[in-house]
Amino acid sequence: MLLGRTALLFFLAFAQFALGAQDYYKVLGLSKQANEKQIKSAYRQLSKKYHPDKNPNDDTAHDKFVEVSEAYEALSNPESRKIYDQYGHEGLKQRQQGGGGGFHAHDPFDVFGRMFGGGGHFGGQQRRGPNIEVKVGIALRDFYNGRTTEFQWDKQQICEECDGTGAADGIVDTCRSCGGHGIKIVKHQLAPGMFQQVQMQCDQCGGRGKSIKHKCPICQGQRVVRKPTPVSLTVQRGMADGSKIVYENEADASPDYIAGDLIVTLVEKDPDLEVDNPDQVDGVFFRRKDDDLYWNEILSLREALLGGWTRNITHLDGHVVRLSRPAGEVVQPGTIETVASEGMPKWHEDGDSVYHKTEFGNLYVEYVVVLPDQMDESLRKDLGAVFDKYRKKHGVDLHKDSGRPERPVMSGEGHREHEEL
Ligand SMILES: [Zn+2]
Ligand SMILES: [Zn+2]
Repeated sequence: MLLGRTALLFFLAFAQFALGAQDYYKVLGLSKQANEKQIKSAYRQLSKKYHPDKNPNDDTAHDKFVEVSEAYEALSNPESRKIYDQYGHEGLKQRQQGGGGGFHAHDPFDVFGRMFGGGGHFGGQQRRGPNIEVKVGIALRDFYNGRTTEFQWDKQQICEECDGTGAADGIVDTCRSCGGHGIKIVKHQLAPGMFQQVQMQCDQCGGRGKSIKHKCPICQGQRVVRKPTPVSLTVQRGMADGSKIVYENEADASPDYIAGDLIVTLVEKDPDLEVDNPDQVDGVFFRRKDDDLYWNEILSLREALLGGWTRNITHLDGHVVRLSRPAGEVVQPGTIETVASEGMPKWHEDGDSVYHKTEFGNLYVEYVVVLPDQMDESLRKDLGAVFDKYRKKHGVDLHKDSGRPERPVMSGEGHREHEEL
């Protein structure tokens, strides 16, 4: 009997050890150097992924959800994190037993609710806040190379000061004016003995059914505050202009609803030459159409006519695209040269994988030939003489060669000629 109890105790202790033994950093997929923001972001993603509402009847997901919230609780508090870093799980456990109001493993749904607002569950019965769309301007260079960046927007957040209660002291009473219903029935007398009953939102509590004596000084009792909130944004190579990235449940937060989605649209912006082009790269002036790029290259009359030139164009990642013609090769104005595979990288879902070979669209170069504005008189004579000399040999007379007649042609119905006769 005694032996049995000991064995059971041992088993319980062992089970607890086994459950608590997972490294909290590993659970969140982070390194020990992770900052507060990374911890928050990792929890945000994982808790949504493993939330039982999204994985009904999946015990593994449920366990993961509990594990993730426990890890977040321990690491999001600087004090408990320090203890965990030094003494591990055992340290946290001792601290908890020793009182002092330190680390508690809360109900994982509470933890989730604090992060996302609402009762710790997705949708269903719970009201959902509006989605919010944000446009973010991205330079062509970043669409080409890919980039992880950050932008800010004024997000409504649950007030941290009062934990979303709106009360400075955390005390929230039932509204006396409406008895907590948020609405009042008001009687209007229409005529003697005739009444109309109108249902109105309670003006004392704004329809919430709750009253606060001491309003929170930070949110003025509103329970939410708007503040600039950074969002990390990854632009993948070759993403289309107008791509949308959805951040689930990251729109405005409120104690009254589950936050809607933040939807970010990437829009190609004109290059800011001071900020976006420190290396004087030609590529920032490329124009993009889907996976292809367009560029105008200027040639002098001499180059277009005589050939024997080279151009080095620096692409968006700094590599050089060389254009050239040997001496004697004429380039007609308006000629479009296709430079294969020097366009945009084609976006692919495995784009980041080392096993994925990125394909590229084309670069189309249009040649623009510039003639001199003014001709020096002697140069004009010299050139004229050269042209005259060679026209006799194998020149072209555009007028003759066009096949157009020298004189008006007689035709049976041409009554103009008729009159002249
Ligand atoms: Zn009221
Ligand atoms: Zn507040």
